[in-house]
Amino acid sequence: MTPLLELDDVEKHFPVRDALGRSRGAVRAVDGVSLSVPEGGVLAIVGESGCGKSTLGRVALRLIEPDRGAIRFQGEDLRRLSGAALRARRRDMQIIFQDPFASLDPRMTVEDAVAEPLILHGTVPRARIRDRVAEMLVRVGLRPELARRWPHEFSGGQRQRIAIARALASGPKLVIGDEPVSALDVSVQAQVVNLLQDLIRDLGLTFILISHDLGVVRHIADRVAVMYLGRIVEEGPAPEVFANPRHPYTRALLAAVPGQGTAAPPLEGDVPSPISPPPGCRFHTRCPHAAARCSAEVPLLLGAGHRAACHFADTLPPAAPLREADPG
Ligand code: SF4
Ligand code: MG
Repeated sequence: MTPLLELDDVEKHFPVRDALGRSRGAVRAVDGVSLSVPEGGVLAIVGESGCGKSTLGRVALRLIEPDRGAIRFQGEDLRRLSGAALRARRRDMQIIFQDPFASLDPRMTVEDAVAEPLILHGTVPRARIRDRVAEMLVRVGLRPELARRWPHEFSGGQRQRIAIARALASGPKLVIGDEPVSALDVSVQAQVVNLLQDLIRDLGLTFILISHDLGVVRHIADRVAVMYLGRIVEEGPAPEVFANPRHPYTRALLAAVPGQGTAAPPLEGDVPSPISPPPGCRFHTRCPHAAARCSAEVPLLLGAGHRAACHFADTLPPAAPLREADPG
């Protein structure tokens, strides 16, 4: 079956200049990513901040133009579309941003904010727009009477619900959530995660969750892709990746989550600069298993199923079993 979304060797570098305008190289935010997103369910893209996952999400929707590579949505090359054809496709692909305080226009009522994509894409006849907005508000757990209010009258969690209603109003097939709950109070994060989970199931959405929060990812993801310095280093079904992480970086990330982790040594040292990433395996400067080969030869992410880009993925000892959850 054709995947809903396919990325093929996608690259996005951002040129860096000093104060005098001289080139200082480029941030290699996305550096050769291939990824296949099947229809339905949740693919999580995880990694430390700065690993390129937000850029990857924007490139996948062509909100940012990649330098290289192919992006296919239902088999159609998005990079060949422009103007009206691209806008029409955008109806099928929406994004929810991290900060609901920034993503809603303070000069638009809730009704106008949710109606805007409906008008843009001509999703429903004008006479039906109000009803459709009310329906979307109910779906995200807000009373339809609130439609005439302004964003500043709502809490962070409510604003994110409005942003979700807006993203889903035009009936997209693919939705990307870029850290959709990490700006919210911890007390409301679970509610919004549960809402997203219900909507993904009820509407049959394909959802790409960009997150550094492995607790949330473990809760809702069907597949996981782990990014490090612009590349995917491990990818596979979520239960397998969590139970048997194959890449030393994934093991270290999991070890850092209280009550979630395997007993790998925690990550040490800083992430190297994405302007001049280490040669060979980009993780070799922090990897407890690094050998001479690792700084010379780039490990590839090959095969299907549960894959890891590590020269020794098949010979590393299995990750230690899960620790008991910390009762605190
Ligand atoms: Fe570590 Fe080498 Fe595997 Fe990279 S290739 S993760 S440095 S063991
Ligand atoms: Mg980000």
